[in-house]
Amino acid sequence: MSKNNILEYIESHKDEFITFFQKLIQTDSYNPPGNEKNLAIEIENYLTQDNLRCDVFEFEHNRANLIAYLHDDFSQKNLLFNGHMDIVPAGNEGDWKYPPLSAHNKRNKYIYGRGAADMKGGLTAMIIALKILKELQFEVNGNLILNAVADEETGGSMGTEWSINEQLKDINVDFAIVGEPTGLNPLPKAIILGERGHLQLKIIANGVSCHASMPNMGKNAIMMLTKLIQHINEIDDRIPEIKPPLSIKELKELISASFPSKDIFERILEDQELLRSLLNSLTTFTKSVTMIEGGIKENVVPDKCECIIDFRLLPRQNPKYIINVLKDLVSDLGLIFNEENEKTGKEPNIQFEIFHESEGSYWEEWRESKPLTNFYEIVENVYKKKPFYLLYPACADAHYLRNTGYCENTILFGPGSAATAHSVDEFIEVEDFLNAIRVYTLFAYEFLK
Ligand SMILES: [Zn+2]
Repeated sequence: MSKNNILEYIESHKDEFITFFQKLIQTDSYNPPGNEKNLAIEIENYLTQDNLRCDVFEFEHNRANLIAYLHDDFSQKNLLFNGHMDIVPAGNEGDWKYPPLSAHNKRNKYIYGRGAADMKGGLTAMIIALKILKELQFEVNGNLILNAVADEETGGSMGTEWSINEQLKDINVDFAIVGEPTGLNPLPKAIILGERGHLQLKIIANGVSCHASMPNMGKNAIMMLTKLIQHINEIDDRIPEIKPPLSIKELKELISASFPSKDIFERILEDQELLRSLLNSLTTFTKSVTMIEGGIKENVVPDKCECIIDFRLLPRQNPKYIINVLKDLVSDLGLIFNEENEKTGKEPNIQFEIFHESEGSYWEEWRESKPLTNFYEIVENVYKKKPFYLLYPACADAHYLRNTGYCENTILFGPGSAATAHSVDEFIEVEDFLNAIRVYTLFAYEFLK
């Protein structure tokens, strides 16, 4: 048995793999509401044909997590594949070239559909890698665990967090891959070592309404909220200074590894505004006021105004800390902060409502990892281009694995382009999908042999 057996097997089963992938795209797992159980059943049917052990853990209505193993012994090395089953809603289906669940295959080059890139492509490739290792009956000195999770698009506490705290807690995982799309076109494939955290906060100003002709009788909620927004940048000085895990200079060096020379990379960087702002955003704490609403009538002083602020945090910046700093800022501006669970009193006040929060994370020791070097070489051989290491602009479930100490050695790598995720006409290149199968299977074989 060798690498060639794997590559030949993939070549001769291509059509079957593509058909299975299309079937998973066609299976509704929209979140909300979170219909992941539909997908879990399809995966279970596929894997149990090969007598792979597959457990489906149901929760709520039509929701589930799935765990499958190569075999039942976890006493040696363990490799974990993590992929989320849920997909974000398609928005207005009329805007799509092909219906979002049609999995339209265009000239065997592209497959369209919600989740094609984020991340049924990566998930399907992981499922297939497990199946190939079983079918080819390699002798292994370790185990491969597939964790197909729910709830990633809405925070991950019922998916990845639940899985590692409950079903996987006694398994010592040595290396983990999260199959998110890590293509950053027009660059080669990226291998992701960390990502920023995320906090989306709704801020509500509760004032007192009155007639606009006698504004002193009330308290204008729009004025209260805009006062806070005007001073929002002051929180930068109130939070401890945190260095980004990799500086812009270091990030540039990592990316330029994919180019024939540094000069060529610098020239490309000059052309690519998107890449420049990506590098900036990966190394800074940012905030954007993204929505605001207030007022009911042209002659009424409004008693309510609310806005949403989207904060992106560096690894080790805690969302709870940011919230506390904001509370202090509220009182220093002479406004009154109202705890969420307290009932709104008569007094004008400011309330917070957390929409979304997730921590950032980073694998500190990646430079010393032999398996990671091996992974890099496999990607280079399969894709015929040097990949590069980078951080991820969006959030992902990897922070549950890294920050809890469950498995710091976690990377993100998967087929599809990060830019097409969540967008209309989401698609994946068929060859990218097949390459991901090759990479996952070859790496698992090397890691466990
Ligand atoms: Zn995703």
